[in-house]
Amino acid sequence: MNGAGRSIPHASSRAAVLDVIRAAGTISRVGIIEATGFTGATISTVVRGLIDDGLVLETGRAESTGGKPRVLLQLNRPARFAVGVHLDHSGLTYVLTDLSGAVVARMTRAGVGAEDPPLVVGRMAREVDALVDGAGVDRSRVLGLGLVAPGPLTAASGMRLTPPPMRHWEDYPLDRALREATGMPVVLDNDATAAALGEYWSGSIQDTSTFAALYMCTGIGSGLLVNGLTYHGASGNAGEIGHICVDADGPECWCGARGCTEVLAGPASVVAAARADPALARSAGLTGERKRVRPTVAAEFASVARAARRGDPAARALLERSARYLAVAARTLVTIMDLELLVLTGASLAIAGSTYLPVVRAELDRAFFARGTHAVDVRLSKSAATAPAIGAATMVLQTELVPLNQGLRVPANLAASDPHPARAGGA
Ligand SMILES: [Zn+2]
Repeated sequence: MNGAGRSIPHASSRAAVLDVIRAAGTISRVGIIEATGFTGATISTVVRGLIDDGLVLETGRAESTGGKPRVLLQLNRPARFAVGVHLDHSGLTYVLTDLSGAVVARMTRAGVGAEDPPLVVGRMAREVDALVDGAGVDRSRVLGLGLVAPGPLTAASGMRLTPPPMRHWEDYPLDRALREATGMPVVLDNDATAAALGEYWSGSIQDTSTFAALYMCTGIGSGLLVNGLTYHGASGNAGEIGHICVDADGPECWCGARGCTEVLAGPASVVAAARADPALARSAGLTGERKRVRPTVAAEFASVARAARRGDPAARALLERSARYLAVAARTLVTIMDLELLVLTGASLAIAGSTYLPVVRAELDRAFFARGTHAVDVRLSKSAATAPAIGAATMVLQTELVPLNQGLRVPANLAASDPHPARAGGA
């Protein structure tokens, strides 16, 4: 076996070995050699370093077919933790995960609404404290905080070109403010990309998969993973399928283009159409104009979805129309990326996914260009509402587990915390 010329998607053997142990649960040194292609000497050195750093434990022995039993290794899960925050107009979702990405605490709080960004950041810092303290976790073990929000985002200045309800966040220095408020390193990313990563780490996706998370919460987006690594594009905004065109003569979108998926299929368009139909608006409970605070788009979309589930034909028709547009966008994505798996996720698909799933499947069965070579598996997420927050936390964990130059923006103090970045590179 020769690790030197082998092309694996990892920049350091340390990160590669950690990722193999994470994915396997428990594994022997021989198993790691087989999985990575590195030499026995390299694996021995790397594993010793990981054990010395407290990241990996030796745990029992496996039966061997001959010779002495093999020592099994596993992640020392409570050695490190990460906070993930999903910021959306409709809600703030927090998770605390251990080193394996398993959720040890979670909470949901009111969305940001029209609140001023500095007030929201102060609230987030208090809520993160409550999350970490409530779980009884020592803060010195928390690697950092991943924050994900609707894109597009820039690393330097946070949100850009924000959707209308969040326009007051445009150019607010979110990561710097949050770093100062929490005292933690902060990593910022797009919510749909994080959702894809969250799906991958929550365990139902194979390492070899080239897959996308098709994400719908208040807006529509997608996140792409290739061999377990997120695909970010030039500015971290790959996969914005909410703004690809599905009708060249369609209505104008808030992004400035015409006929975007989001303006035709997004929750806001479903809610607007439902409000324009007095009978449906009444049936779905959208008539409460006198309420002091109007519910969020995501909450009103959920009301329409519930009406559809109760059998309201007008509600069903609106969701099916939205699903057809989303399915066309999904086909574009699947065709361009030659995907083998598409996971439907995000809070709005957590509620209405059963209507969207068969429509997307039918579109791909009928019209996916490469269907002669392989089918595309389309599934509903099992953790659709929390996948972005889990992904946000795993972005932070990846700074420990996966090398740093894969498009993740890693704070300098976290990057420097890997004391052996080049140790025992492929032999
Ligand atoms: Zn658009």
